[in-house]
Amino acid sequence: MSIKQSPLPYELGALEPHISAQTMSYHYSRHHSGYVKKLNELIEDTRFADMDLETIIAEARIDGNIPVLNNALQTWNHSFLWESMSPSGGNKPEGRILERIEKDFGSFEAFRDEFRKKALGHFGSGWVWLVDDGFKLKVMTTADADSPVATAMTPLLVLDVWEHAYYLDYRNERDRYVDTFLYKLINWKFAAANLVASERAIAA
Ligand code: MN
Repeated sequence: MSIKQSPLPYELGALEPHISAQTMSYHYSRHHSGYVKKLNELIEDTRFADMDLETIIAEARIDGNIPVLNNALQTWNHSFLWESMSPSGGNKPEGRILERIEKDFGSFEAFRDEFRKKALGHFGSGWVWLVDDGFKLKVMTTADADSPVATAMTPLLVLDVWEHAYYLDYRNERDRYVDTFLYKLINWKFAAANLVASERAIAA
């Protein structure tokens, strides 16, 4: 068994003009696929070889196997990223997820401000997440490959703030990239489905 790169849920140019086909091509076909390839090389003929991706992540964390952990996390994080964006995204969410956001952040605008502030305040490479920690929805950042996946928190959405995600289209202007995500790309249907699963798991 080897770990497969998840398919991109839309065409390479589907997020234009916000994210160019060239950026998506590098990001999906070189960066993401590079992590998957490296992970498969690292786990071949090891005890990780027959595990699914989330099990590899959990076990590599326990072992402190940093090369396996980093490549497994980057494999997972990017699959989650593609789903976190949509050609028809960026609208205001509705229903339960909006209720939770308004309760935990004060208002939808306050959520956007918090996400923007954390994304711009994060130094260097990393990720910006909306997570359900079991009690509250929170915005958090992680450095490099780190991720809340396979922890007590449930990720609902993510934005990649590694420069490879935006440099071709936005150069050093992370603020314009973050606003484009918040106002044009963010996939609330995906976040809402993740919240349903999270609330079910907590209630069970
Ligand atoms: Mn990336």
